[in-house]
Amino acid sequence: MRKINIDVVRHNIKGLKLEDETRKFTNLFSKMFVEMINDGLDQVDVTLVAHETIDNALKNLTKGWNTSCSNCTSGDCCHQLIGTSATEVALLADVIIRTNSSVDIDRLKRQSSYIANSKVWYNQTMGDRRCIFLNDLNQCRIYKHRPIVCRNFYVVSDPKLCDTTSVINTVDNLNHPIMDAMVTAMTLYDPCVRPKPYNMYLPKQLRDSLIKRGYKK
Ligand code: SF4
Ligand code: SF4
Repeated sequence: MRKINIDVVRHNIKGLKLEDETRKFTNLFSKMFVEMINDGLDQVDVTLVAHETIDNALKNLTKGWNTSCSNCTSGDCCHQLIGTSATEVALLADVIIRTNSSVDIDRLKRQSSYIANSKVWYNQTMGDRRCIFLNDLNQCRIYKHRPIVCRNFYVVSDPKLCDTTSVINTVDNLNHPIMDAMVTAMTLYDPCVRPKPYNMYLPKQLRDSLIKRGYKK
């Protein structure tokens, strides 16, 4: 396999508009990913390491926080447009196929028509906006492998504001630069993806990936 040149990745990072702290973390994570890939790890393994790294970092950052998410079972936040990376999609497709899980591929198709931006996303009904991984008890069926954006979403405002059934409110959440940096770094080391963070959304990427792998309902 062709080795990734860290200097090319660093050059791409230089071209991105990033806050100083995000840039620092992006450089750090990119170096970590490039070394792992050049050592022969595959995308799925690298994503598992990325998730473990972000969880540990967030555990320290949120120590002592009293977030609204701790006791919430509404599932309201799981009706948003979810950003992801090619590597996270590879992990999810892998898990779905390996465990022979059933996913609503038709809803993924419908959702894929509403991903132009987060405003367009809300033109769907609440039922169609629902993440395909949310079960009847409003629990995430792939919690262990959920994307980074789902890991980072610590809300401190009133949980009622998360309900988007009839109105879209603004919520206060953690949104630490470390999350932006991790997602950006995961996008940069993937040679198939242009160095542009947040241009990938779960519904379309996952559907395409499952179909490519021969997923049958
Ligand atoms: S983000 Fe909002 S809806 Fe989601 S778990 Fe936290 S408080 Fe509940
Ligand atoms: S992947 Fe899981 S945590 Fe993320 S939006 Fe879907 S159900 Fe919610």
